[in-house]
Amino acid sequence: MAWTPEKVKLLKKLWSKGKSTVEIGKELGISKNAVVGKVHRLELAARPSPIKKNETQKKEIQQPKPDHMTLMDLKLNSCRWPIGDPQDPDFHFCGENTVTGKPYCPHHCKIAYTSIKELSLQNSKTNKEKKDDSDATEDLQEDVKTKPAQKKKEGK
Ligand SMILES: [Zn+2]
Repeated sequence: MAWTPEKVKLLKKLWSKGKSTVEIGKELGISKNAVVGKVHRLELAARPSPIKKNETQKKEIQQPKPDHMTLMDLKLNSCRWPIGDPQDPDFHFCGENTVTGKPYCPHHCKIAYTSIKELSLQNSKTNKEKKDDSDATEDLQEDVKTKPAQKKKEGK
């Protein structure tokens, strides 16, 4: 049989209603396999099934949150600053309330971001000093060349 636009439309309608391929086949007067094949070609495989869809969506949202608190005993707003040696049984995380949008409490934020700042400051300072050194050497050399000439001019 030929797939007329009307039949395709009916197939889609029945499919979206959640009818089985056998039921659709009976409605259209075709075999179940013909329905399966057409559904596949129309890429209708993702049949909307509201209850199941909601369930999967909920699961997907919940997955990133840790179900077990044994690993860190941390909430989303708990400070993740590690305290002690990770090999040590006493090892734990700070767990204080975090600064909004930051993984650490105000105290550990200060430590974390200060050390990063200091590191970058040190780096830029070292680079600058190196640069300044070479500049200074060049200046000195120029001075040595130009100064005697200037003195001669002044002397005359
Ligand atoms: Zn902390």
